[in-house]
Amino acid sequence: MYWCSECARTFALDEVVWRCSCGGLLDLPPVTDRGFEVDRGTGSLWRYRSMFPDPTVAQVTMGEGMTPLVIDAPGVWLKLDFLMPTLSFKDRGSSVLVSHAAAIGVGRVISDSSGNAGTSVAAYATRAGLVAEVYVPAATSPKKVAQLNAYGAEVHQVAGSRQDAADAAIDAVTAGGAFYASHVYNPLFHQGTKTFAFEVWEQLGAMPDVVVLPAGNGTLLLGAAIGFAELVAAGLAPTPPRLVAVQAARCAPVAAAFSRRPEPGGSGETVAEGIAITHPARGAQMLAAVRASGGTVVTVEEAEIVSARQALLARGIDVEPTAAAAWAGWKIWSAGEPPGRSVVVGLSGAGLKSPH
Ligand SMILES: *Cc1c(COP(=O)(O)O)cnc(C)c1O
Ligand SMILES: [Zn+2]
Repeated sequence: MYWCSECARTFALDEVVWRCSCGGLLDLPPVTDRGFEVDRGTGSLWRYRSMFPDPTVAQVTMGEGMTPLVIDAPGVWLKLDFLMPTLSFKDRGSSVLVSHAAAIGVGRVISDSSGNAGTSVAAYATRAGLVAEVYVPAATSPKKVAQLNAYGAEVHQVAGSRQDAADAAIDAVTAGGAFYASHVYNPLFHQGTKTFAFEVWEQLGAMPDVVVLPAGNGTLLLGAAIGFAELVAAGLAPTPPRLVAVQAARCAPVAAAFSRRPEPGGSGETVAEGIAITHPARGAQMLAAVRASGGTVVTVEEAEIVSARQALLARGIDVEPTAAAAWAGWKIWSAGEPPGRSVVVGLSGAGLKSPH
């Protein structure tokens, strides 16, 4: 069941609902009623389905997950989470969320996105035989819009900001009663992204000390936090890693809240379009997750993002600027840290999605 983070009202999982009647965000209770099992015969993130709300749901899958973890420097690993069916980590969440939408019998899903989440939802919806309607800001990378069209999504390019695109999607959901396949609001998305944590733990054979992730709406950050917490709760690791969230200096609301600066600052416009989120709906949860882990939020300048992309290319790794931001953030963060910690940096989106 879903439960409201504000008033604790509950909703059955087969209800078409995306927010509580009180306006509160919906969450899912932690999975505590079963053991943590890894089905090693399954090569996708569905190997961890024992920890999904419904392990027996019909899987809408394209083999997503189990992305490579490669060494970047001694003690530093890059998780190539862009090696996914639609070339971003969002496929983790979409696979689980769209499986659920198909299972409860909806024919149509709506989402809004800076590009990658919508593309991912569109691909999985198409695979499940559902119609996907996606709202994106007019300034979205042409390659991402082309990818959306290629998957047969009904694309609405909304004049204005990322928030305007979200507002338009919510209007459409409210008007038509469609299923809002939102990576921000529907907590089933985080059930998919939590597998990032399970994979890191399984691939390293231990918890890392630190995990560095880009943070816009926090779907990867919050999912990872849930996953690490579930590993600890299952007795499989003593403590979760510290979470380092990376934001663009030009769009850094969570960083501002973390350091208790009054104003987020910045224009909100950044080459890291995937994290250009001025008002993250789950901002308070992101802050709480970072704080609880003993981690921090770092900001990166535009020039640092651009040079991080080049530095990764020089290693043969081609990611989009939003993903490069995480690596830039790791560089900045690690400069102030004693060496010797094990660190995983999540690389979230492929280079082909945005111009070089
Ligand atoms: C969506 C996205 C992000 C940010 O994820 P959030 O869940 O909004 O924090 C980072 N990188 C890429 C490539 C993305 O598509
Ligand atoms: Zn409520």
